[in-house]
Amino acid sequence: MTGALARLIRRPARPGRLRPDRCDLCAVDIDDRHAHLWDEQHTSMLCVCAACRLLFPGTGHTYLPVPDRRTRLAGIDPAVLGVPVGLAYFVRNPEGTVTAHYPGPAGAATWQVEPAYWAAATTAEPALETLHPTVEALLVSAVRTGPAQTWLVPVTDCHRLTALIRTHWTGFLGGSQVWDEVRRFFDDLEPTTAGPRTTEPQTAESTTRSRERTPSHG
Ligand SMILES: [Zn+2]
Ligand SMILES: [Zn+2]
Repeated sequence: MTGALARLIRRPARPGRLRPDRCDLCAVDIDDRHAHLWDEQHTSMLCVCAACRLLFPGTGHTYLPVPDRRTRLAGIDPAVLGVPVGLAYFVRNPEGTVTAHYPGPAGAATWQVEPAYWAAATTAEPALETLHPTVEALLVSAVRTGPAQTWLVPVTDCHRLTALIRTHWTGFLGGSQVWDEVRRFFDDLEPTTAGPRTTEPQTAESTTRSRERTPSHG
């Protein structure tokens, strides 16, 4: 067992369905590394076993699978996205817009991202073009207690981070405990190797994917 997993198990259960012990569809036992399906009709996240996950391979089904890829991105300056300091995550919407979420003590505040900001970020980090709408996120940490970092993650990671902040926030600025927890959250993020793609990104911007990448000069 890795140290990260051991720490996870020692932590108290958090609110919501983040640490369930049964599949939401068939009720078999599941562990911390279970899969997730997004229920578009009820806008809720299901925690499921591997067998149920395979029943819903992509778009056009009742449930949208949440990819499990998790990649650290190097090319983006958080300030480009308007995040000079703090935590934020960005989710593409099926119609092509991008919503930014600011996790805080009352949950996550949201706003629509200026298309020009997102275009600049995508130019800096072309991997953003592959971000699956709704179920994946660009996660940005520009907190004072650690180095700035950006990740492409399952959106469930962002839900976990938001719940962690709600649980541990104290006072006006959060208190030292919450920022220790945030630092540990990022320390524990483990990159996954890119698995098979579950669905193709389907947004109004999909046409940009056919754009040829310009080879770097020099
Ligand atoms: Zn199941
Ligand atoms: Zn879950």
